[in-house]
Formats: sequence, C-alpha cells, structure tokens
Amino acid sequence: MNLPDIDNIKTPWAIDDKSILSQLHADSESGLSSTEAARRLSFVGYNKIESSKRVSPFRILINQFISPFVLLLTVAAGLSFFFEEWLDGFAIIAVIVINAIIGFFMEFQAERSMEALKKLTSVPARVVRDSKIIEIPSEEVVPGDILFVEGGDMITADARVIQASQFQTDESALTGESLPVEKNTKALQQDVSLAERHNMLYKGTFVTKGNGRAIVVHTGMTTELGAVARLVQQASQAATPLEKKIQQFSKKLIWITVGLLIIIFIAGILNGQKIVQMLETSIALAVAAIPEGLPIVATLALAFGMLRMAKYNVIVKKLSAVETLGGTNVIVTDKTGTLTQNKIEAAYMQVYNAASRINVDVSKASIRFIDNNTLIDTPAHIELHRIAALCNTAAYHYDGQSEKESGDPLEVGLLKMVFSSAIKPEDHQKQFPKVDEIPFSSDTKIMATLHKNNQDYYIAAKGAVEELLTFCSSVMEGNEIVALTDDKRKQWLINAEKQAQSGLRILAFAFRLTKEKEKDFLHHLTLAGLIGFIDPPRPEVPAAIEECKSAGIKVVMITGDHPATAKNIAIQLGLAKEEDEVMHGNAMKPYDQLTDADKEKWLHTPVFARVSPEHKLSLITLFQEKKMIVGMTGDGVNDAPALKKADIGIAMGQRGTQVAQEVADMVLKDDAFSSIVLAIKQGRMIFDNIRKFVIFLLSCNLSELLIVATASVLNLHFQLFPLQILFINLVTDVLPALALGVTEAAPHIMQRKPYSSETSIINKKRWSAIFVYSSIIAVTNIGAVFVSHELLHDMEGWNKELCNNILFYSLIFSQILHVFNMSFEKGVAFHKTEVFRNKYVWFAVVGCIILSMISYWIIPVRNVLDVTIYGWRDWIIVIAASFLSLFLIQLVKRMRWVI
Ligand code: ATP
Repeated sequence: MNLPDIDNIKTPWAIDDKSILSQLHADSESGLSSTEAARRLSFVGYNKIESSKRVSPFRILINQFISPFVLLLTVAAGLSFFFEEWLDGFAIIAVIVINAIIGFFMEFQAERSMEALKKLTSVPARVVRDSKIIEIPSEEVVPGDILFVEGGDMITADARVIQASQFQTDESALTGESLPVEKNTKALQQDVSLAERHNMLYKGTFVTKGNGRAIVVHTGMTTELGAVARLVQQASQAATPLEKKIQQFSKKLIWITVGLLIIIFIAGILNGQKIVQMLETSIALAVAAIPEGLPIVATLALAFGMLRMAKYNVIVKKLSAVETLGGTNVIVTDKTGTLTQNKIEAAYMQVYNAASRINVDVSKASIRFIDNNTLIDTPAHIELHRIAALCNTAAYHYDGQSEKESGDPLEVGLLKMVFSSAIKPEDHQKQFPKVDEIPFSSDTKIMATLHKNNQDYYIAAKGAVEELLTFCSSVMEGNEIVALTDDKRKQWLINAEKQAQSGLRILAFAFRLTKEKEKDFLHHLTLAGLIGFIDPPRPEVPAAIEECKSAGIKVVMITGDHPATAKNIAIQLGLAKEEDEVMHGNAMKPYDQLTDADKEKWLHTPVFARVSPEHKLSLITLFQEKKMIVGMTGDGVNDAPALKKADIGIAMGQRGTQVAQEVADMVLKDDAFSSIVLAIKQGRMIFDNIRKFVIFLLSCNLSELLIVATASVLNLHFQLFPLQILFINLVTDVLPALALGVTEAAPHIMQRKPYSSETSIINKKRWSAIFVYSSIIAVTNIGAVFVSHELLHDMEGWNKELCNNILFYSLIFSQILHVFNMSFEKGVAFHKTEVFRNKYVWFAVVGCIILSMISYWIIPVRNVLDVTIYGWRDWIIVIAASFLSLFLIQLVKRMRWVI
C-alpha cells in the first residue's frame, strides 16, 4: 500500500471525519496494523521536537581546539620552535592534544547523560493498533494512528477529532488562551484560526475533561508546536543558575590570574630571567591557573546526580532543579498515596441504625461484619453495594489466583467489597448500563452517574459526607425513605466525624430513581449510608519526617480529605501533635485577602484539610513571600498551576496525570514521600560536591601561582618550569576533581540547615580558606627545598635542578593529598569523612601517583620535564613535606580557623 499523501492534507479541520480517515488510509475501529505503523515511521521519522541540533562528536572535538587556552599554548609552542627548543615545542603540542582528549570525553559524556535523561521523561501515548488500544512511546506515533486521550493526558501529535464525549482541552501552550476549549467532530471552514479549530487536537496541549479519539495528521516537527519550536530553535539551552555562577566566577578568576601573572612576569625580568622563559612560564601558569573546565565538570556532576536519582525512582527533569532541591526548606505534601500506601480497603459500613467494622476477603468472597450482623440484606445495605458498583470507573477482576485492577484505588476498594458479596459488580453494571456521568473532581469532592434501568433511570452518587449531604433531601431508614431533617443531617455528620477521628476516610452514598432522563441529575438524592476506608500510612514515612526535622525542612500536609482523618494520620506519622489545629479549606482565603494574623497562623499549621487546588497556590505564595524554597506535590490537572509555581513541583509517577508530570520539575516513580527526602539529600550532596572540586582546583592552582610568584619576586635559586606546571595540572586536576564530583553524602548532611537561595559556591569564608590552603602548600613546598638544601646538599652549593625537582614532586604529592582536605564537615574523624571513604578518590590518588612516577621512570618523559634522579633522603623530604601540608591544613580546619 502506498503512503497517504500527508503533505496535501493542509486543512484537516475542513475535511469531514469519514474522508479524513480514508485520506489517511486508516480505520477508526481497528487503527493501523503494527507493520503499517512501522513502515510509516520509517518514512516520516520519530514524533519528536528537535529542541536543538544535536552536537556531533566531531563538532565536540573541534570545539576543544577553539579556546583562548589552546591559542595561548600554541603561542608557547611556536615560541619554543622559534628558539629551537624542539622537545619543549612537541611537549606543549602533546599537552594541547591530551587536554583536548580529556575535554572531549567530559563534554561527550555530559551530552550523553543529558540525552539519557531526556528519554526518562518521555510521555506515553495510547493508540489503536491491530484493533486494540495500546500504550506506545509518543515518539512512535505516526500519521493515521487513532489516538485515545482522556482528562489529564498530554496530546502527543496534531490530530483531527473523530469521537468526543464531554471533551475539553487546554491549548494555552499554543494559543495563550487559558480557558478550556470544547472539542467536537464537526468539519469547519478552511480559514478558521488555530484557536477556533474545535475539531483539532494539537501536540503539547492537554485534555482537561472528558475523553475522545482523534486521527493523527501531523507528527514531530511538522506539527504546530514543531513550527513554533523551529522559530526558537536557535536559542541555546539556558545554563542553570549554578552553571551561570560558575561561569561568572571563572571570568573573575581570569582577571585575578592575569594580575598575578603581570607581577610574576615583571619580577622575573627584573631579576634577569630570559623574556622567552618568562613568557612561557606565564602562559603555562595562565593555562594551569584558570579553571576553564569548571563549568563542564559542574554540568557532569549535575547530570550524573540526576542519573543516580533516577535509580532511586526520582526523575529530575531539569538540571536546575537539582540545585534548588539542595536548598528546599519546606515540603508541602498531599496525603493519599504519598504519605499513605494507597491500598484503600473498605473497613466500615453504616446504614440507618446499624454500624459495623467490616473485613473484606476476596479470596473467600466474604465480608465479615465484626461488630454487628444486622446490616446484611437490609434495603440500604443492598443500595450501598449497588451504588458502589455503579458509581465507579475502576476495574477489578479476581480469578481465584491473581487479582487484576486498574483505576482509582478507592474505587477498586469498593469493587472488591461488592465482588465479595452476593451480586458481582458486572451484574450490577449489566442490569444498570451507564448513560451519563459527573466525574469526580477534587473541587466538588463528589461523583455521580446516571443509569438506565428498564424504562426508568437510576442515579448513583458518592462523595465527601458534608458535600453529598447538601444534595440529599431524604434518607433510607429500614424499608422506608424519610425526609432528611436538620437534626438527622447533623447526626450523620457527627457519626462521620467520629469515625474520621479514628483515621477512617468516610464517604457518603446516595441514590434516586426517576422516570425521566435528566440532564442535571444531582439533586433530591436519598442517603443510603456511609462506608469507611482504611489507607495505612507508609511505614518508612515517620523516619523520613524525622530526617526532615533535623535537616531544618518543614513538612506540611495538604489534603482533600476530612480534617479528622488527616489529623489522625498526621499524628501517626509524627507530623502533627494532638494539640495542633487543622486548618479547614473553608477557612482559607485567597492570598491577597490574608491578614498578618492569618499568615502567622498558616505558617504554624502542620495540616490543611478539605483543601482545593487553588488553596495550594495561596499557601505557596505565602511561603515564597517568606523567602522559603517550596517543594509541592500534586497529581491532578488542577494541580498544574501550583506545581508550576512551587520552586520544585513534584508529580506522582503512578497516580499523577501526564499534565502534572509534564509541568513538574521532578516525578516520583514510586509516589513515596521518602523519595522526596532522598532527592533533597542528593541535591545537597551534589551542591557540596561541586563546591568540593571548585575549592580543590582553586587552591591547587593558587598554590602554583604563589610558588612561582614567590620564586620570581624573591629571585630564589629555583623555579618551576612551564612544562612542569602543565604536567602537574594534567596529573593532579582531572582525576581528583572527577572523583570529588561523585562523593557520597557527608555523614551529617541532613542535620545541617538548608542552603539559602543566595548562597554562592564560594563565599568570603571559602575564599579565605582557599588562600590559607594554597599558602600552606606553597610554604611547605618551598620549605622542602630549603630543608633539603640545608640538610643534605649545603656543601654542593645551590643545585638548581635538584631544588626544582624537589619542588616539582612535593607540589604534586601535596596536591594529591590535598584532596583529603575536601570534607567540610566539622568534628568528623579523618578516616570517617565522606572523601576518605570515597573509593573513586582512592583510585584517583593511586592513578595520580602512577602518572607522576611515569615522569620519573620513563626516560623520554623525564627528559622533557627536566627531572633527574636523586637519593632516597630527598624522597623522604618530598614525602614529609607533602604530609606536613596535609597535616597543617587539617590542623587549621580542626582548630576552626578556616572552614
Ligand atoms: P490527597 O489530597 O491527600 O490526595 P485525597 O485523595 O483525600 O487527599 P481528593 O482525592 O481530592 O483528596 O479527595 C477529597 C475527598 O473527595 C475525599 O476525602 C473523599 O471524601 C472524596 N473522594 C475521593 N475520591 C472519591 C471518588 N472516587 N468518588 C467520590 N468521592 C471521592
């Protein structure tokens, strides 16, 4: 079969639904066959937006050679060749090549990690293939696919609607219009604007209500979103705040280094050094001292951190979120499924004058009434079961061995209860086919359905007790239906409240029979009774909450559930105390109407109950006004604004809608609260690690500058040679810095207060620490040369080469050992610090020692670096000086003179 002529379908909204199907060679019932879909995919390509051109490995390699540093080194090499220092010239070229190779691998790895991360966050699509609805990665959707979408789903391609029921979408991403748009199947004029094409779905928009089917017309870059993306494609990916900070800070360093270099250069010339020699030394120092690789190492640390979090079921979608996580100081979390297990079971039943705890056992198909058996087979009891089966969109099946379930866990709990009784859910559903539905929403807290029953109609409704009671005018008492007086209403509310206090989630169930098919059927209902559910807390949550407390992170529960149920669970989890007050949604006002007293009260309330999504926005605004960094969980379509507004929007991977997952910064695959705490810990750790290698690199580089500056200014008898400087940097910078980037969390990382959002990586205190560290390294190293001279070689006069060699090796070893100073935690024994326990640091140390010994053992390298052999006594001095610098830095740190 030929491919359909997609390019010619320019105005699909003007074509009627039958013709569009035939033009795209598709069938609305059976969809495409998988072989045909694969064939189309190979022609049209993947359905994805190319956000920016992929950088080819070759380009990454070339980029390594386009930098001021390579230019500087090339000048140095040129100078060497000009003065016929052939060995030096070739060695500098080798340095350029080695640097480029290291840079290439780091950048390539960073690109790779970012791509792996993008894959983790891809959205699935439901399509009809081979007559079945299946879920496929949205990249594989092709023109002609029949797309099935419902409330909360992201639309993954441009498609023409062919079936719609109560179907609404939010197209604000494309049109800027935030009101939902009603969708239908009617063909339109050719010239209607995008916002008025009510029979089209567009990639990147989402379904707010109802459901529908649509035939895919355009995918990937040919969609409307693709066209917009093409326009903005040139814009490069924005750097995260942390990366920006590092870039700015690297720029500052350039000027400091240039200043120092000028001093070194002038002092050298005044002291009679050759200009060429001083030029080369300055270039080598410039290349060594300016940490041009910092931003990429930082990106790598962030990207690795994200990949590591993915292993713990936390998908972080933006690099910048990792940094924000480290500073999070309030978590606003919902209850159901995040703090509790979401294994909801019916555990209590109440009709007119009888109440009992119940125990549902699907394997025996039995419901045990623990306190009171008189409930069974009363008319209200039968009605409760019928409503439970009918007012329900979940599915449950048990074949005697395994259970299959899908949908809202509360509704699954209800189906299990009905399944364990005499009449099975499907029998109820067959007898009363559904004709209309008012879906559950966390705003109304009610769900209702309309069913046909022979010639009549039956209305089934369930929901939060106080809400549903407002739609009830009568109640079932025994065999009778009597008016629901105010007194009776009050009594039902008191009963529900009492049960909620024991942690049960209580729902009311009501019904009505009618002759007519009504459009608005939610009125004059008859209350049948109450059912209570248990949803046990997750066992790991109390420890996670405890950890938050010691980490200075406030945890607030915000739930749609009843205040008493919420408080009971909060107390069980250690989130609230008996005397704490629960804030009711009714008592919450929009943010701009809050008085100072209200704000104060909100800030000290641990539990907010019966809350609707807009209350979440007010609460975030308040916290943010107080300069707090807010992590907020959410799962529904209505939670999207709050998820966007929070500093870290956290969506649930299992319960969450696609929209919530799309707008969130982070998705919890296991929905668990403890994963949030884990992510915060990882965020803090990554920030710490970046800080560690920045401080390490800067103090090493500064120590080199100080040594060369001292030798030049004081006109000492020895100096470091340019190639030696380059070698030290190759050996001691890369491996330890990368190893520091993957250090585990420090022992007390969660007992520290969160970083404030303004914390810079290197503040004044850290600058002075860097200065102290590098001065200690410089002094002990120069000291080593004098000691060796005085003790061992005084007779021989100043042996420049030997002095230089001692300086060279003691600097290498001091820098290698300096990595162990990079734990910033106070009062932790040396061997218990996270750096000492990081096996990669040990690999790096051993690797660096081997590399430095190559310079000693391998003759050509030794010649290039001007290294000569000397005796074991000198080696002892070198090693003693390196350990002395480690010891002194440990001393100043432990005496708390510096950080
Ligand atoms: P959280 O916000 O912590 O997830 P929640 O799940 O209780 O808590 P919602 O899902 O908004 O929040 O539910 C609010 C209330 O609506 C519940 O307490 C219950 O009374 C009622 N409710 C929940 N699910 C249904 C449902 N499927 N049908 C009818 N009413 C429901």
